Amino acid sequence: CGIVGFTGLNYQSAPILLKGLEKLEYRGYDSAGLFVADQALGTDQLVKEKGRVAQLEALVGTKNVTGTSGIAHTRWATHGVPSIDNAHPHLSADGRFYLVHNGVIENYLELKQEYLADVTFHSDTDTEVAVQLIGKFADDGMSTFDALRKLISLLDTNSAYGFLLMDRNEPDRMYVAKQKSPLLIGVGEDFNVVTSDAVAMLDQTHDFIELHDGEIAIIDPDKVQLFDADGNETAREPFHLDIDSSETD
Ligand code: GLU
Repeated sequence: CGIVGFTGLNYQSAPILLKGLEKLEYRGYDSAGLFVADQALGTDQLVKEKGRVAQLEALVGTKNVTGTSGIAHTRWATHGVPSIDNAHPHLSADGRFYLVHNGVIENYLELKQEYLADVTFHSDTDTEVAVQLIGKFADDGMSTFDALRKLISLLDTNSAYGFLLMDRNEPDRMYVAKQKSPLLIGVGEDFNVVTSDAVAMLDQTHDFIELHDGEIAIIDPDKVQLFDADGNETAREPFHLDIDSSETD
């Protein structure tokens, strides 16, 4: 339902992500979760909770959740009951990839049967099929970028997705893709963010690049690379959103 992501070397991502999720609460949701990583420390953590963002925040407070990058999600269940197991982020079988997803993958059962018959699933979501596929394609030798492209090529055109992906082998980097679900890349001085709704990140930046259907972006603390549906690098200037973050509280 709602997505936020952050990467920047001189910041703690968890408080920024939690604040972002709070700003998305107006959309409604049944559970929430985040994955936070730290390249320098070589650590990462996954925290998920049913119910309110405040409950996720309380749980985060009981753990030592440090990290300079991370992704977070508020879920509005479409496939699988509201539960901690079904909350995002979901991960690949080997624990390498973490994915949050807005929307619905219409052909997830067909994909699960065709490609993932031997994989043990930990949720009932359509989203887990997507991240397990990325894990499988990476196991087959593909780069993360190519694995994400291949996933997208397999999704039924009726599907809707905003995907925000992290690879534990590249903890400062985020991958995004979208179709029919909004995704914005927010540009900062020494950080970059991702959000499904600008209001969630107005404390960080007012400059956003709108991702178009079929595009993929690779986001590092110091740069954003945008690729068209054919995989060719492209570029788009950010637009400036001239509203005060206090107006959206
Ligand atoms: N279809 C996914 C699920 O049920 C994502 C729902 C959402 O957009 O929050 O987990």
